[in-house]
Order: sequence, then structure tokens, then C-alpha cells
Amino acid sequence: MENLKKILTRIDGKGYKAYKDLQGKTFQFPDFELDFYYVQGDPFAGPSQVAVKIEQKRARFPEATNKPRIRNIALNDYLTRVLHKEIPGLCKGRRGTGKSGMVAVDNPGQEILERSSVRVSPDTVEARLFIGLPARGRRVLGMQAEEMLLEEIPKLVQKSLLFKSLDRTPLVNHIQAAEDQDFMRKSLEEKGLIAFIANGAILPRRSGIDQRPLEKKDAVVFQSPPSLEVELDSPHSGKVKGMGIPRGITLIVGGGYHGKSTLLRALERSVYNHIPGDGRDKVVTNPEALKIRAEDGRRVEKVNIKPFINNLPYGQDTSSFCSEEASGSTSQAANILEGLEAGARVLLMDEDTSATNFMIRDMRMQKLVAKDKEPITPFIDKVRQLYNDLGVSTILVIGGSGDYFDIADTVIMMDEYKAREVSKEAQLIAGEYKTHRLKEGGENFGRVLQRKPQPQSLNPRKGKKVKIKSRADEAIQFGTENINLHNVEQIVHPSQTRAIGDLIFYALREKIIDGKKPLKEILEIIEKELEEKGLEIASPFSNQPQGNYARPRALEIAAALNRLRTLRVKV
Ligand code: ADP
Ligand code: MG
Repeated sequence: MENLKKILTRIDGKGYKAYKDLQGKTFQFPDFELDFYYVQGDPFAGPSQVAVKIEQKRARFPEATNKPRIRNIALNDYLTRVLHKEIPGLCKGRRGTGKSGMVAVDNPGQEILERSSVRVSPDTVEARLFIGLPARGRRVLGMQAEEMLLEEIPKLVQKSLLFKSLDRTPLVNHIQAAEDQDFMRKSLEEKGLIAFIANGAILPRRSGIDQRPLEKKDAVVFQSPPSLEVELDSPHSGKVKGMGIPRGITLIVGGGYHGKSTLLRALERSVYNHIPGDGRDKVVTNPEALKIRAEDGRRVEKVNIKPFINNLPYGQDTSSFCSEEASGSTSQAANILEGLEAGARVLLMDEDTSATNFMIRDMRMQKLVAKDKEPITPFIDKVRQLYNDLGVSTILVIGGSGDYFDIADTVIMMDEYKAREVSKEAQLIAGEYKTHRLKEGGENFGRVLQRKPQPQSLNPRKGKKVKIKSRADEAIQFGTENINLHNVEQIVHPSQTRAIGDLIFYALREKIIDGKKPLKEILEIIEKELEEKGLEIASPFSNQPQGNYARPRALEIAAALNRLRTLRVKV
């Protein structure tokens, strides 16, 4: 600590580069050590990254808060939130030019994710902070740096990272919520379910840009229809009652603005655990559920979309379909086949974001446009095979076509935000009013190809330098390319996007993507490494762990790779 003080006094008033003296250094404080992983070269550049490490002798987190793994994930996530909440009160913030004076930590949203911002282990607690080393113009402000590093950060540590300083109840609730959700999600399979929504859940959000729950007084609280009510066990909340969605084909029907999409969006995001009070903190979905939508304009690389698209004009091959600009229907078909290739077990679809001609083709249209003039085999003719042949279930929001009644196992109607089961009624109607459609789906679903990504088609460099940057949760710059992730809806945090970009580079660097391994195998290796070594593997600099990664699913890593326009594969 004294040493750090000396350095800061010495470099006071010097050019900003003098801060670089700190890079790689570790300083011993009474309660913790301070590591300078990265020191910015300029007050306007990306902030410096420091880590505080506290020995468990001092931090004293009981083993029960940290073991098994799911508790560790929840604890790390929780401490990140505490830091984020305490920083504004304990740190003065901006002083000087550019980022001078800032202290920040990753800012979690409604989901409890595995993160690299805080790492609690049996021996230490490590928190990674971003700081703006203070300057006036481009001159070091040594005194201000001293204030930040020697006063503010120790106070932050005291208040946020010692077990004894923390409120017990919210910490325990956070950990238990994650553990309950994990447990319930794992129990879906044996109960024959693909999703569960507890009675009392609040599904609607404040707004399209605010994921917090709609206030209770404005929301219709979820209540399962009696016929679909099931009970799941949970370690901390006992038996939880709610609506179970069985595997197979489920339709969500109902009038416009009655809450169909809201229900589906809750399911989409409940592949992750939610924080207590989120309203979806007892909603769980099969972890391999994938949102599928139309995404016209995206690139597609050698995907076998034959199950859905055949006989394109001019005899274009659809068993190894490429497009620089896929249409609504071909992009939706590609999204499904790529999802299956990467391991999706449940498909979630909403008519709002689907291509109409992909979803339905009614009797009249079949009469007017003969099968051999229509390349598209509509989803309605494949959804049953998807389940029978591949065991992949579908949940589909569809208020616009009753043709689907013929193939549905379960029909849920949203009626003024209340769920009712109407499977029997739908069946009766289907029996009474025939669609007279011809079935166009053939004998079986068709093949899901395993493609082998070619490493030379993935270039992380711009000029000579590796350049991988993420922009919110929307896009990744990969070398000179831009990966558009706007329509990959199950990326829920910008830190996941960041991790995805760097994990692709990791897989390339470590030759996991070697031109010979199929995509699924690549994803499995990445997952295994993440499981064993943690998110740290994503950092392009082995001596600089990054404090702002959150774990993505393999499905979203695949989605990003598939949207990289230079990607080439061998089939
Ligand atoms: P649909 O897909 O059936 O047209 P949406 O799911 O888009 O309907 O919902 C329409 C509106 O109703 C949205 O603004 C949504 O936030 C709100 N909403 C949805 N579910 C509820 C609920 N349970 N309580 C209160 N408002 C809700
Ligand atoms: Mg809708």
C-alpha cells in the first residue's frame, strides 16, 4: 500500500503513460491485495482493470454459500450486484478528463448468470473492477488516484465483499432462488415437461426496453388452468404448483393483445435463472429451448434446409443451401436446422416474428399454387415429424390459423392474460371443420447435417491486430466483419455477447475449430472447458482475466458463428 502511494506521488503531474508502471503489479493492503491487470494508455481509452483479492480468512463466506457450483454462480452474481449498488455511494466518480475517477463493475440484469466479475473460491474472493485512472488533460492526477485506490476501494471492499458486512436475507434468497430454479428445470425432463410456470408468476415486463416486472397492481398474476396444473419439488420452496407444458406440440392461441407473446417471451428467457422478485423466478424452461424466428437478410452457409425448402427457381440446391441474403422463410428454415445441429431440444416460435408462408399453406392456396410450384413445405407439415423422428418439441404462438389444431397435443388459450386449456375444444373443432389440406411433409423429417467450420474462413484480425469487440448485446465485431445478433433473442446480457466473440477466438486459437470437427463437437469441447476452467479461458490475454464476461449457451455461440458472413464449412 505504501509502495503504491510512493509510485503515485512520484508520477503525479507526469504524462499519462507513467501509469503504465502499475501494470502487472500487485499491492498488499491490510485486508486485501490489489492487482493491476491492465492499465489504460489514455484517459479516454477503455478503463483500466484491477482486481481486489481477499483471503477467505478475512472474507469468511461459509462453504454453504459457495458449494455446490450453482451456489457459487449465484454468490458471484450477487456480490457483483452488491458492488454495483455500493459504488455510487462510496466512490466519488468522475474527476478529471475522460474516464478519470470512474469505478465500475459489470452490471447484471434480471438473470442470474455465471460471470467473471466476481470469483469466490474456497481460499479467496476476487472482484474485478474497471477504473479510470485520473488525469487532468493527459497528466497524472496522483492525489486523486490515491483517493480512489487507497480510500474508496478499501471502503468498497469492506462494505461489499466481507460476509459479515452483508445482509443475510437477500443473499440467501438469491442463492436459494438460483438453486430452486436449477432443480426445477432439471426435474422437467422426468416429468415429461418442457416448461413450467408457477402460479403467482408475473410475466409482463415494464416496457420493451425494461426487463423489470410490470408492477403487481398492473399485472394479471399467472394462474395455471386446473387441467395443466402440476407440482414440482424444490429444495428451498418446497412443492411449487403451476402450469406444466408437456413435451410434444403446444399451441398458444387467443385474441390479439391477450398476452400470448408475453408468455412465450417468459419461456424464452427462463432457460436462465431469474433474480428473486423478477416474477419469472419460478418459471423454468428446458435449457435447450431455442427461439426461432424469421431473419431475412442474414447469410446462410451450406445448411440442409430441404426439410422445408425444395425446388427453388433455377434448380438451386437446398440440401447445402447458401445465401448472402436469405428470405423470411429460408432464414427461418435455416435457423431451425442450425438450431437442431447445435443441440436444440425445444423450438419456441411466435407468429409475430415468423414468415407467414413458412407457417401455413391452406387448402385454397394448395389448389391455386401446386406443390411443385411452391418450394416451401410449411412448418405445419413438419412439426409432428420433428417430434416423432427427433424428439424435438415445439411451443408455438399462433392466433391466426386454426389449421394447427390438427397436429397439436396441447392448446393453451390466453384470455385477458389468463391461461385456459382448450385442447379438447380445439380437437372438436378440428373434427367438425376439416381443413381439406393435403399433407405435404413427406414420410419423415429429413437429415440434420453436421457441418465442419473451416478455420481459415474466420479471421479475427483487422490489419495485423486481433480485433474483437462487442456492441451491447446486438453485435460483435470480429476482425473486419460485423456479426449481427439483433435477432438472436436469447442473448440476454452484453457480457454474454462479449464472451461469445472471445470464445470463438479461443476455439480458433486453440485449434478446436480445426476444419475437421463438426460444429456440435466444437461446442461440446468449449462447454467442457468452460465447466472445468471457467470463463477465464475466453480472455485473449492469459495474464489478464476479464471482469465482464457472462456465460452464453452453446446455442448462442453457434448462432453467432452461423451469422459470421465469412464462415465456410465442409459438409
Ligand atoms: P399478444 O401476443 O397476445 O398480442 P402480448 O403478449 O404482446 O399480446 O401482450 C399485450 C400487452 O399486454 C403487452 O403490453 C403486455 O405487456 C401486456 N400484458 C401481457 N400479459 C399481461 C399480464 N399478465 N398482466 C398485465 N399485462 C399484460
Ligand atoms: Mg403477439
